[in-house]
Amino acid sequence: MTILVTGAAGFIGFHTCKALVARGETVLGLDNVNGYYDVDLKQARLEQLLSQKNFTFVEMDISDNDALERAVSGQKIHAVLHLAAQAGVRYSIENPKVYADTNLQGFFNVLEYARNSGVANVVYASSSSIYGGNTKMPFAEDDVTDTPVSFYAATKKSNELMAHSYAHLYGISLTGLRFFTVYGEWGRPDMAYWIFSEKLRRNEPVQIFNNGDMSRDFTYIDDIVTGVIAAIDRPASALGLDVPHRVYNLGNDKPEKLMDLVGCIEKAFGQELIKEFQPMQLGDVERTWADISRARKELGFNPHTSLEEGIERFASWFKFWKMR
Ligand code: NAD
Repeated sequence: MTILVTGAAGFIGFHTCKALVARGETVLGLDNVNGYYDVDLKQARLEQLLSQKNFTFVEMDISDNDALERAVSGQKIHAVLHLAAQAGVRYSIENPKVYADTNLQGFFNVLEYARNSGVANVVYASSSSIYGGNTKMPFAEDDVTDTPVSFYAATKKSNELMAHSYAHLYGISLTGLRFFTVYGEWGRPDMAYWIFSEKLRRNEPVQIFNNGDMSRDFTYIDDIVTGVIAAIDRPASALGLDVPHRVYNLGNDKPEKLMDLVGCIEKAFGQELIKEFQPMQLGDVERTWADISRARKELGFNPHTSLEEGIERFASWFKFWKMR
């Protein structure tokens, strides 16, 4: 199979491309390698991918439809994994336009590409943030999700609605993956586990929001990759639904307090963090918790990495990355 992966230089894109190439797929990666976070990190991920013979890469902006058409011209693509997005809840408060351009226009371009080129299988990234102010735990896919508390979440929910209409109108198989706080090696410098590790290394204080009374369903990257690949292998169209669109929670089904994350980081690095307790931030939610029974049943998704184990692996990699 030839699989088009957008956001290939990103955290989840990098790990998924590596796994796809390792099992013999041909991957065409796209990414604009933007400076939202450390470009060296994105370049280092790309270098590793480009050392594999079945991986090719085009640097382009997904919100530019002509650039997308040029990148895929003459290629027979069997499936699309659309991960390119402007991520981050807090950044969306000050920078909504980039989210509209990349997450809405970019998503539309991918849908149009699938429609015009006849790609039958599209898997795309949604987010746990679409559950917004939900208080019913754990979050299940059929919960009402019409109260996004950040513009980022609003763009991801919009993607799900756009996907549903394309599945209904054009019969394209679309699978949305609601990722829950993914962490691990080669991860994202804008996320708490990385920021805490960096502050600890510099012996600087960390800000702990909502006085630490927040929990997240932290999900380890290798577990996520198995879920993403299972979603590519089992398209929504195979489920016999009226409309071939399905969304799945990909989480760990084990919410952990922010202070538990702090504890795991302190243990992995053998050092205590200097903590500054702060109030809740605008756009944040207090708790996330994935009900993963649908993904277990239909994708065979079975996350098994504990936070302690995953942070230990991240910390070993992080030390290597900072030493290079
Ligand atoms: P990431 O930021 O590491 O990866 C996204 C990639 O998309 C980046 O390499 C970036 O350069 C690229 N990109 C951004 N705008 C682009 C554009 N206009 N054109 C082309 N490329 C562009 O993030 P990630 O953690 O790997 O997330 C992958 C997907 O999963 C995203 O859609 C994100 O919203 C979603 N997601 C991630 C998490 C998580 O915890 N990591 C949680 C929920 C949802």
